[in-house]
This record gives sequence, C-alpha cells and structure tokens, in this order.
Amino acid sequence: MTRIFGSPGRYVQGEGVIDSIEEYLPMDGSQAALLLDEQIVDLVAEPLRAGLDAAGFRIESIAVDEVPTNGVIEALVDEIDAADVVVGAGGGRTLDITKAVAARLEAPLVTVPTIASTDAPTSSLSVIYTESGDFEALQFHGVNPDLVLVDTGLIARAPTRLFRSGIADALATWFEADAAYRAHGKNVFEGRSTRTAHAIAREAYETIDEHGVDAVRAVEQDAVTPSVEAVVEANTLMSGLGFESGGLAAAHAIHDGLTHLEVHGATHGEKVNVGTITQLVLEGRSRDELHGFIELSIELGLPVTLAGIGLADADAATLQRAAEAACEPTETIHNEPFEVTPTAVADALLTADHIGRTLKDG
Ligand SMILES: [Zn+2]
Repeated sequence: MTRIFGSPGRYVQGEGVIDSIEEYLPMDGSQAALLLDEQIVDLVAEPLRAGLDAAGFRIESIAVDEVPTNGVIEALVDEIDAADVVVGAGGGRTLDITKAVAARLEAPLVTVPTIASTDAPTSSLSVIYTESGDFEALQFHGVNPDLVLVDTGLIARAPTRLFRSGIADALATWFEADAAYRAHGKNVFEGRSTRTAHAIAREAYETIDEHGVDAVRAVEQDAVTPSVEAVVEANTLMSGLGFESGGLAAAHAIHDGLTHLEVHGATHGEKVNVGTITQLVLEGRSRDELHGFIELSIELGLPVTLAGIGLADADAATLQRAAEAACEPTETIHNEPFEVTPTAVADALLTADHIGRTLKDG
C-alpha cells in the first residue's frame, strides 16, 4: 500500500492574527463568502471583514447556526453560487459546513477555528448529520484548507471544557496513529501512514504531557502563555495532521460505539478519552503506561470512567451494544495490530472503567 500524507497549504497561529488575515491569505480574487458561527459573530465579524476588504474582496457574510446536514450545505451552495474564497469561522460544525460548501463551489478555503476542541480546522473531511441530528456520514472533500488561521487569544477565551476536550482528542491521536502504524493500517486518505505523520502524532502527546496541565490553568484565566501556544498547536495542527495522515484506531471507534448509547451530555473529546483508556486496556499496555495515562487525564480534568461521560448506569448488555457498534466492519478499530472482537471491547470497557474509578477515588 502506498504512503499518503496530506495537509493544509498554510497554518498561521498567534494571538491577534485574526486582525490581519489579509497578510496571510494565499489567494486573491474579488468575491469572498464569509460563514460565521452565530455564537461568535460579535468577536470575529469585524476584523475578518476588515481584512478581507483590505485584500480587495467584496464580502457576502452569512451567519451559520446549524448542524451540518446535506440540506444546510445545499442551501448555502445555492445562496453563495460562486466565490473566489470561502472563509469559515467558528467551532467544528461551522468549519465542517464551510469545508463542504467550499468543496462544492470548488473555491479556495480558509478555516478560522475559535475553539481548539476538534480536528476539524485542518482536515479534508466533514462530519454530516441527519435532519434529526444523528451522525450520517463522513464526507471526504479530497482537498485540505488553503489556510488555517488560529487566533490563540480567541481560543484562550473560549470555554475551558472545550480546550480540555481538544486535548483529549489530541492525546488519542498518538495512540491511534501508533496502532495504525504498527498494523500497516489505512489513514483517512486510504493510504499507509508515513514516518512524518507518526512523529507528528507522538509530538502531540509529548507536548500535552509537558504543557497540558499548565495550559489548562492559563485558559481558565483566559490567558495566553507559551504553554497555551504549545497545546493549541498540539490540539489543532499536530492532532489534525496526526489523525488524518496517521490513521485512527480503537479510541475513535469506541467513541462511535458509545454514541449509540444515550451520552448526549459529553463532548466528543470526553467520549474519546474513555475510548483511549479502553484502547490501552485492549492493547494490554503495561501498568505504567495505562495508569500514567489515566493519572494525566485526571490532572487535566478529563473523564476516566463511564460515570464521567454520563453512563454511570450502563450494564454489561448496554456496553456490549456499544462494543458491537465499535466493531462494525467499516470502523477504524480494525486498524489495531490484532483481531478485535466485540467481547474483547466490552471486557476492556468494563475493566477501563473499573481502573479509572479506582485511580480517581485513590
Ligand atoms: Zn476526534
């Protein structure tokens, strides 16, 4: 199998970079579509409009406050019709909508994440939901953003829980990319991983191990420190490249399985963290590795038990359902370097929960 590595064209990160988007735009033209997450319009509309204006674009701005469904994307494509650049600012869902719209319009794409909680800003895919809000499909666009503009000041002022969730997603990236690498599994591009993607994923973990706890403390104060800069890069660039080019494995498949249960209160990253601990149990990791990861999670304020993601009452039969969903043939769990069965996953979930409870109470 051929090795494939993909990435955005340019990544710009710093406090206040949103105030000078015109300096970083790698494209020109006359018409820009600006999709703004309704919740953060006040924070970003003015600087982005001013910057696009300074770069010579006429701007059509549209507030977005919906989950990414095919209907929402279709309507935006009709409304915009044509653009020389599509710029999206907001959380994962707004960026997923923006990426799909830009791909449909075959327009250059800029993502401006305002939270560091997902891998959406750098990747070439969108998570699409049904009209009723359930997961429908991953939509692959074949292209990554031309520019990812990350204003660390904006991100530090966003809710700390979302920053923590991004950390959980970035920690998973290493263990999953490493499993896929050892298994010679497939990445998102249907190719094999590279040494590059593997090294980036490892660096995501090491950066968070070194800077994660202090970065969370800073973000609790809405402050930007060198640790915050390091962790924003780990959550956004390293995790984004690491998952897409390195490949996913058990942690995200277990997350997907858990979403079949009623866990609507927990964030993506929180569910992924329980998936990561379960993956480590499934892989038979040493006590040092497993307990070390759980203790780091506790220090970072991440859930380490089923109760921590709203599943305190899940019985063995319920977990078996999640385990079966996690082992669907299309799931990334088969990127583990051994055969995985639903029974093994259910046993690992129960055991991970028990160890998590013991360390949390200890
Ligand atoms: Zn994720």
